[in-house]
Amino acid sequence: MARYYVNRSTQADGDHEVHRYGCVYMPSPEGWLYLGDFESCVPAIKKAKVVFEHCDGCYYCSTFCHARRGPIKTHRLVERRHARKITAPSL
Ligand SMILES: [Zn+2]
Repeated sequence: MARYYVNRSTQADGDHEVHRYGCVYMPSPEGWLYLGDFESCVPAIKKAKVVFEHCDGCYYCSTFCHARRGPIKTHRLVERRHARKITAPSL
C-alpha cells in the first residue's frame, strides 16, 4: 500500500497529476490533495477522477497510469506493461 496524492493545480495540458507519496515531482503540501492508501495508481486515479475530471498518473512514480506519452515513452511503457502483466491490477 502507498499513499497517493493529486495535485490541486493542473498541468499545462489541463490534467491533475497523481503522485505516490515520496515522488520528487510532488507539489508542496499546500498544493496536494490526499487521496488515500492504494495498492496501485489505478484506484488512486479513479478516486482522483471523482474530484477532478481530468487526471493522469505521474510519469515518474505512476508510470502504469501515465496516459500522456511521446513515441519513446510509449515504447517504454508498453515494455513495462508487458513485464507487469501478471501482477498488474485489473482495471
Ligand atoms: Zn510522481
